[in-house]
Parts: sequence; C-alpha cells; structure tokens
Amino acid sequence: MPYVSNKRVVLVTGGSRGIGFGVAKALAHANMNVVINGRRDASEVADALAELESLGTEAFYCQADIAELDDHTQLLSAIRERFGRLDVLVNNAGVAPDVRADLLDAEPDSFDRLIRINLRGPYFLTQAAAKWMINQRQAGADFQAAIVNVSSVSATEASVNRGDYCISKAGVAMATQLWAARLGEFGIPVYEVRPGVIRTDMTAGVADKYNQLFAKGLTVEPRWGTPDDIGRAVAVLATGQLTYATGAVLPIDGGLTLRRL
Ligand code: NAP
Repeated sequence: MPYVSNKRVVLVTGGSRGIGFGVAKALAHANMNVVINGRRDASEVADALAELESLGTEAFYCQADIAELDDHTQLLSAIRERFGRLDVLVNNAGVAPDVRADLLDAEPDSFDRLIRINLRGPYFLTQAAAKWMINQRQAGADFQAAIVNVSSVSATEASVNRGDYCISKAGVAMATQLWAARLGEFGIPVYEVRPGVIRTDMTAGVADKYNQLFAKGLTVEPRWGTPDDIGRAVAVLATGQLTYATGAVLPIDGGLTLRRL
C-alpha cells in the first residue's frame, strides 16, 4: 500500500523565498505538509526547508521550472510518490521584468517571458493539479481542496513601464475566474490573493522609490507589506475558513487600491 500523508498537503510554487516562503510557513503552522519548488538547486534551499521542518511540517523541495509543462508532470509525480495526495495548490512563483521599459520601447522577449512564467505556467499547472484533485474528491467526499492564485495589484493598476507584468497578472485574475467557474461542480474553490507592494527580493531594486511613495501616502497603512501578511491571507483560504466564496479576490495591499477622495 503506498504511503498517503495523513496531513493535508499543499504545493506552494516558488515557496523557498519571498512571498512563497511566507505562505509556506503559514501553511506549516496550519498543520499541512508543504511542498515547495523553484528553479534553484536543492542545495540552495536547505535553510528554507530546515526552517519549515522546525515548524513541524514534512517539507519537500522539488526543482521544477513553472514555465515548463514537462516539469509540471515531474513535480506532481514527485508529490504523488512522496505524499500520495495534493489538497491545495498555491500558484505563487512569478517574475518581474528584468528591465522595466516604457510601453513605447518594450521588447517582445520580455513580454513572452512574463506570460510564460506568470500566466501560462500556472494556468496549465492548475489544469494538471485540478484533474488530480477531482479524482481525489471522487474517491472521498471529505477531501477538501483549494487553489489560490497570487496575482498583484498590477492586475488592475496600469504601470506603463511594465505592461508585460500587468498583463500577465490581469491574465491570472481571469484565470482565477475561469477555474473557479469550471471547478465549482467538483467542490474545489479557486481564489485570488492580490498583494500590494511587498518587501522581497523582487522589490529590492525599487526599495528607495517605494519608501518615498509610502511616505507620500501610497497606501492607507503606511508600510511595506510582508510575506507573512500574504501567508496569513492564504492560510485563511487554504484551511477552508472563507466559505461560499469561490472566485473571491482578497486585496492584501494596505489600502493601496482603496479609492480615496
Ligand atoms: P521573489 O522574491 O523574486 O521570489 C520568486 C519566487 O518564484 C522564487 O522562489 C523563485 O524561485 C520562484 N520562481 C520564479 N520563476 C520561477 C520559475 N520559472 N519556476 C519556478 N519557480 C520560479 O518574488 P516575490 O516578491 O516573493 O513574488 C512572489 C509572487 O508574488 C510573484 O508571482 C509576484 O509576481 C507576486 N507579487 C509580488 C509583489 C511584491 O511586491 N513583491 C507584489 C505583488 C505580487 P527561485 O528561488 O528558484 O528563483
């Protein structure tokens, strides 16, 4: 008989650092076994795994590029082998443009890269994971799945120096609606968490700019967001505490997108 984890199992893509690590820690605290993936070699994420293990989770790392659909198959097979189940998928892995470029000058290569990693990858990973979740649900009605997409305020806020990123995140917002609509009949809710400006490696290069913007009132809550802020929100969704709400969008942005007069 193959081993099946008695704890719920979550895959947090890009879970070894930044927002994904905050989410992974929150879900370890919520008594789930946590799988993380990334492009880096396993030797580079040993500290992250050890920290997760210290929270009582059986943490598992799988090197897999979210943009490569073959890697999805490998990733899900590895989870099947290790834990025998997948309850929650958090599509977090994503990238910013290498160079921010004005819409009038931006290159198609950057556009293609962002769409492949931020949108196409998670869209098809969701497809593959959903099929497995449907099977698990059909095998046991108490199986409670959830899918959470990490988008961005850039899904709605137009930044003309990174149109590629904004479009990829607007696509993630629609993908959330689509998958929520498709998976409802199987009892699998799909949610979107929409972070504002969060202190991670991704924003390190623009820290001065945002420090000034916070001082000028960019957000209602005058501070950087943290990976833990996002982790808490995802934990609420992943543990089924927000009911009758599939397709819901949770802005975790300190009021950045709050309309003010
Ligand atoms: P980060 O610190 O740069 O971390 C990105 C993570 O994604 C890393 O774990 C990285 O893995 C992984 N990743 C990137 N490309 C990948 C690929 N092709 N395949 C597999 N894994 C990949 O970024 P972050 O700030 O935590 O952002 C996480 C998510 O939140 C992204 O989707 C981002 O768009 C979104 N977001 C961020 C902010 C913000 O202000 N930081 C705001 C809104 C939304 P490696 O470690 O192996 O490279």
